[in-house]
Amino acid sequence: MNRRQQSTRQPPRSPHYPTDTPAHDSFGRRIDYLRVSLTDRCNMRCVYCMPEQGAQFMPRPELLTSAELITVMRAAAAAGFRKIRMTGGEPMLRRDIVELIRAIKAIPGIDHIAMTTNGLRLHKQAPILKAAGLDRVNISIDSLNPDKFRQMTRGARLEEVWAGIEAAHDAGLVPLKLNAVIVRGLNDDEVLDLAALTLDNAWEFRFIEVMPLTGVAGVAQDGVVSTAELIDRLEAVYGPLEALDQPGSDPARPYRIRGAAGTIGFISSVTDPFCSTCNRMRLTADGRLHLCLLRDNEIDLRTALRHGATQEELEQIIRHAVHVKPWGHGLPEGVLPTLRGMSALGG
Ligand code: SAM
Ligand code: SF4
Repeated sequence: MNRRQQSTRQPPRSPHYPTDTPAHDSFGRRIDYLRVSLTDRCNMRCVYCMPEQGAQFMPRPELLTSAELITVMRAAAAAGFRKIRMTGGEPMLRRDIVELIRAIKAIPGIDHIAMTTNGLRLHKQAPILKAAGLDRVNISIDSLNPDKFRQMTRGARLEEVWAGIEAAHDAGLVPLKLNAVIVRGLNDDEVLDLAALTLDNAWEFRFIEVMPLTGVAGVAQDGVVSTAELIDRLEAVYGPLEALDQPGSDPARPYRIRGAAGTIGFISSVTDPFCSTCNRMRLTADGRLHLCLLRDNEIDLRTALRHGATQEELEQIIRHAVHVKPWGHGLPEGVLPTLRGMSALGG
């Protein structure tokens, strides 16, 4: 693991305001990837993401409309954002999802549009999304055991998600990435089976360390299974994993089981943060730029938007947000985000 560990030490901030495109933050990181939460609602209730009961959702008038989202995406493209990922909550609950993809894909400067989804609605929609311009999907699948899957998602059916995975594959939404959040005592006994999906399929299977977001901190507290432990367990059965080159700012450290068609990725947000190569910013469904997943810093874009700000004015707010983006999270010092849960942030 050491070979791949990154420096987490915070460099000095540059006082210079970013006028370059793509914009660089005050630590010199190029910020060109926007993760857009389309809604905080979801048709699952994963144990590591949402509380079982009492989840509060944003009133609908608070959510950015399609037209507002497209205006923001144009301003973001002008500030140099090149990749957009739609997430949620469950992004496929948005009725305007196909039109949104089509409109965002047509914005000059946007090179890549992807989606992270729980897959429940992909079965019918995958070819339509592809035709609208979606490049790729990441699909969450935490267990291959239908009962365990139902338990972890609090009610969803594995076979529906599996049909979604096959539909995405067939529609050419590739390379397909599958995500599993591993929680000790829940699905950590399935790591070998999940990794085995890559033996015959050219997919990337990504293991994510569970993070202590608000509402689920209890699950995360004792539930984190470190990447180092996962690699040990996999190597005990499959032999040494082949370490692959890590593309730019992808948080997943890629490996391959010898001879496998696909790859395995590890997202070690808790035990080995990747803040030094962070290239992203988040837009919440109610129009806030959220500057670091695991901190509460936000900048309001919606008020300006609803008061008639021009695209240039929105671009300046986005550039300011890039400028003041914090270096990284404070989990080692016990700083936990409290403002929003993961379902309102989009991962
Ligand atoms: N509903 C979609 C899905 O589940 O793929 C998109 C939204 S979900 C919030 C985005 C990603 O965050 C998913 O891969 C999910 O597994 C991950 N996630 C949710 N809660 C998490 C937590 N506490 N720690 C780590 N990852 C989490
Ligand atoms: Fe919904 Fe995704 Fe959160 Fe699961 S991880 S509850 S599918 S938003």
